[in-house]
Order: sequence, then structure tokens, then C-alpha cells
Amino acid sequence: MAPVIPADFHPLSPSTETGSGSPAQLLHNATAHLFNARNAGGYTARVLEGVAAVAGKVSQCTRPFTGATPAELKSRVDAVDLGTPLADTAAALDELEGVYLRDAVYFHDAKYAAHLNCPVVIPALVAEAVLSAVNSSMDTWDQSAGATMIERRLISWAAGQLQLGGSADGVFTSGGSQSNFQALLLARNQAVEWLKLDPENDGLRLPSLLEKLRIFTSADSHFSIRKSASMLGLGYDAVVSVPCGPEHRMDPVALGGELAHARNEGLVPMAVVATAGTTDFGAIDPLDELAAAAREHGAWFHVDAAYGGGLMVSARHRHLLDGIHRADSVTVDFHKTFFQPVSSSALLVRDAATLRHVTYHADYLNPVSAVDRPNQVDKSIQTTRRFDALKLWLTLRIMGADALGALFDGAIDLASSVAKVLASDPDFELAAAPQLSTLVFRYRPRQPDGSRLAEDTADRLNQDIRSAVFSSGEAVVAGTTVAGRHYLKFTLLNAEARVEDIRSIIDLLRTTGALLLEDAEVSA
Ligand SMILES: *Cc1c(COP(=O)(O)O)cnc(C)c1O
Repeated sequence: MAPVIPADFHPLSPSTETGSGSPAQLLHNATAHLFNARNAGGYTARVLEGVAAVAGKVSQCTRPFTGATPAELKSRVDAVDLGTPLADTAAALDELEGVYLRDAVYFHDAKYAAHLNCPVVIPALVAEAVLSAVNSSMDTWDQSAGATMIERRLISWAAGQLQLGGSADGVFTSGGSQSNFQALLLARNQAVEWLKLDPENDGLRLPSLLEKLRIFTSADSHFSIRKSASMLGLGYDAVVSVPCGPEHRMDPVALGGELAHARNEGLVPMAVVATAGTTDFGAIDPLDELAAAAREHGAWFHVDAAYGGGLMVSARHRHLLDGIHRADSVTVDFHKTFFQPVSSSALLVRDAATLRHVTYHADYLNPVSAVDRPNQVDKSIQTTRRFDALKLWLTLRIMGADALGALFDGAIDLASSVAKVLASDPDFELAAAPQLSTLVFRYRPRQPDGSRLAEDTADRLNQDIRSAVFSSGEAVVAGTTVAGRHYLKFTLLNAEARVEDIRSIIDLLRTTGALLLEDAEVSA
């Protein structure tokens, strides 16, 4: 579709009063690119060109990737002369086709089944156009106005869905890693405050207080927990890895043991971090029991629901989050199971007052004298910050929460259908029944004597299958390890993908695996 050019749009015309190439001419031309009242028509036309380019691309897309190599793309990008701008938007978009669009990895494609990237909903893309043009910044009221109220309303909506109580609050963040980091920062500062009240610690300096702190999380929790511990000055060793039961959920008895052990050693349980939807298995830790253990030991209870957070709007699976209302803080990634474009996440807290740990009054921005102003910077570790909340807002206003929940439910159904396909396929081994929308499995065909392919061979083979399939561009699947062995992983978030689509990925994995095995035998 050709973009509609508004009638009041005039392409750049060289001014007659100034010579071309003069500073005045340069400035004249430059101002034509500013988004403002005068250029509103041009803005519409240009953005429509960009929108048409990506829409055209997506409508022709028949696979998630082309298999382009890093070397190919590097040389094409390096060949661009950044010192010489192109004639117009159309030319730049043409060039972009070669350096990006043609070889991008497309998450909307039914055969993209790798990471927790979702197909995105159109209402959120409408919001992207609005929020980046207005360009509100969420740090202070005087840079955001209504945007702050919309963000606050969505925070209380999400906290309400999770029943975090009347004192709940929170803030949008750039992603689950940042939400987890901020949660642990609040927990650390709470623990230090509490430690300082104890006369026994009188005169102890911060480093020796920090040395006592421990974070308890399951062996399957997200790496950002460990990374946060390190960034918070606690070190990786401050994280106690609690074993999981057979379903990859944290074992509450083991947690109780670890907590008691730490107390006996004179250590301080700073936080228990549960996961609601682990990245590999979609496992949801037993939230109620973990909350009870955390409370008993005075530890902050954080729930990382970066993946499982979307269950809050699911009609059929909402109950899987039971117990989450007991959390002191919760991470939710809207850019995963709410089908929002990157980035959009939130940290929710049960007690608004705990956000004071990230409050800093800068004279030029949010002085103490302006504490009654609704300045979101008081709650955030970022300063200048995108109005990502608008995407969720327009999504709720156009689609509604139930429709989002239906999309996640659809992905969960797809995973359970595909699990049956894999479980009944003699060439594949499924590592566990699906809990949300991921499947961990490997290609391990039977040998002529009826035994399975040797573990070591299967290990190498599954890694090779994954790279070969990625290079083909026909499908994108993930990989992970289970007890030191390599597996493949489907992360399914596309409710429009059909079982047949995934079945054809399985067939591709099989033929690729068989060919690789054959090659290995020939060369052996
Ligand atoms: C994805 C994920 C994260 C990290 O979120 P980002 O948005 O990628 O920073 C944290 N925890 C879990 C369980 C996740 O699945």
C-alpha cells in the first residue's frame, strides 16, 4: 500500500535567500526534520513510509530468519557511509532493507519458538507512535503530566489484579532484570536498616553488615538474581541456591533448612526470591509455602513473575498465581506475556514506603520542597524514562485484559498439544510436562538395537541441530541444559501458530539431526 501523503505536506525546497551548503541553509534544512506544528504533515508521511515498509516486509515474510551470518551483516553495515546522508526517507528505508529488515529475526512468525519474545499487539504499536512523538519523560510531573497519572493507574491496576493490598505501589522499568535488581535493592536496604537497629551491630560499618546478607532462590531462577546480588555489593556467593523438586519448583522444605542453617551461622536472610514461571520449564514455585518461610525468618519475599505475570489476566490459569498476594514485591514483564513491544516491565511493591530506598532529591529536578509533586523519579532507579505504560494502557482500552489473557491461554494450549506430539514421537525425549508455554526436549533417536543414542553423542548433536536450523532460517528454537546435558527448547507465545507449524519444526529438527548423524558416520 502506498503511503497517503497529506495535502499540506511540502518537501524540502532550498531557500532562495541563502546559498546551498551555507550554515543558514544547513539549519533551514535541519529544522524541516523537527517534529512540530509546521512539519506535522511531513511527520505523518514519513512515519507512514516507515510503517508501510515494515508492514510490507511482514506481509511477505515466510520464515523467521534468513540465516544471515554476523560477518555478512557486519560488512553490509560497515559499508554504510555515515558521513553522507541519503536523499530522503525512502532511500534510507531502501538501505535499511539490506542492513536490517531483510535479515531481522521475526518474532511474529509461527516458526519462531526460541526465547520469551512475543508477537506484539497492534494497540501497543499505535501507542509507540504516540509516546515517542510526544516524548514525555516519566521522571517528573513537569515532564509528563497525564502520563504520570496513566502509569500510576496501571500500577494500581496490576497490583489490584495481584491483590497486593491498599498500600501497594510500583513503577515501570525497562525489563525483568531491572525490576529484579530494584526489588533486591529495596530488600537490601530494608535489611541494612533493620541490622543497624540491633545494638549488637553498633559501630559495624556497611561492608561487614553486607557480608551477612543472604538471598535464597531456586537453582532454576533467573540469572539476573545472581547478577543483582553482585551489583548490590553482596557478591555471587550471597545467593543460596535452593534445590528444586521433580517439577523444577523450589522445595519449601529445603528452603526452610537453608534459612535455619544461615541463621545458625549468624547470617541474615535478606530475601527469598520465588519464580512464577521459570525461563526454561515455566515452573511456578509454591508461593504460599515460600511466603510463609520468608515471613518466619523476617526475609523480604520477592516473586519474579517476569514470565508468569500474564496469568493475572488469564481466565483459565489465574489460579496458578495463588499466594502471590503475599509478596513484598513482584516483577512483571509486560513485554513477554502481555504481548507488548520491548520494553515494558514493572516492579510492584506491597508497601509504597519501601520505594523510599531509591528516592534522592536533586535540587534541579525534584527538590525536597517539591515532595508533594507526583515525581516518578522518586520511585525509580532511572531518571529520564520512556512512557512505556501507554502501550499497556491503549492495549487495555482497545483489546481489554481478557483478550490478552486469551492470547496467553492460547499459547499454553499450544504447548500442551505439542507436548503430546513430542511425547509420542520415538525420536524425541521430552524433559518434563509443560507448565506454561515452554517445552524442553531433545532429539535422541533409537539405535538399530533399540537403545537410545548415547548421551554424549546426543549432547553434541542437539547443539549442532540448533545451529544448523538457525542458519537455515526456517525456524528458530532455543537450547538449554538440564543436569549438564544439552536440550532444545520451544518457547511458545504465539497463539496464532498451529500445532502443524510446530510439527513441521519438529520434522525439520529430525531431518537435520538424521543428516548430521549420517555425516558424522561417513567421516568417522
Ligand atoms: C525474562 C526473564 C527475566 C529478565 O527479564 P528481561 O525483561 O529480559 O530483563 C527475569 N526473570 C525471568 C523468570 C524471566 O523469564
